Amino acid sequence: MRGLTLACPACGGRGLFTSPMLRIRERCPTCGLRFERIEGHWLGAVALNTVASAAAVLLSVVIAMLVFGTDTGLRTLLAVALPVGVVSPVLFDPFSRTLWTATDMLLRPLTSSDFEERPPSDSSVGSRAHRSRDAGAHNRRGP
Ligand SMILES: [Zn+2]
Repeated sequence: MRGLTLACPACGGRGLFTSPMLRIRERCPTCGLRFERIEGHWLGAVALNTVASAAAVLLSVVIAMLVFGTDTGLRTLLAVALPVGVVSPVLFDPFSRTLWTATDMLLRPLTSSDFEERPPSDSSVGSRAHRSRDAGAHNRRGP
């Protein structure tokens, strides 16, 4: 239910999105839940958004046929369905993210590691160490 209201699925906290409501924060500002629990987490939200947007387009066509009649021309149907198809994925995006995170929590219950700071990855530490070693070698070669 919290996913439907753009609240944190774990604590119900608000303010998960940065101002034009399009970007979700990395963590819940209230409880510290990291939303991207695994790499590729948001793919589920994209799938949810695709299904919801397709349903919205289909619904708009059905409504247009109810209003204008079933012998309505293709242009009329496109004039109704096209804006819906463009606007609904954008409007539903924040909802798809909180809904998907809530769904993910049902499938994989939260653990304490979902609230912890992510340890720095080995690759970034390694490349940084490598870079400084190179700089040192370069300096020694100088006059
Ligand atoms: Zn929270």
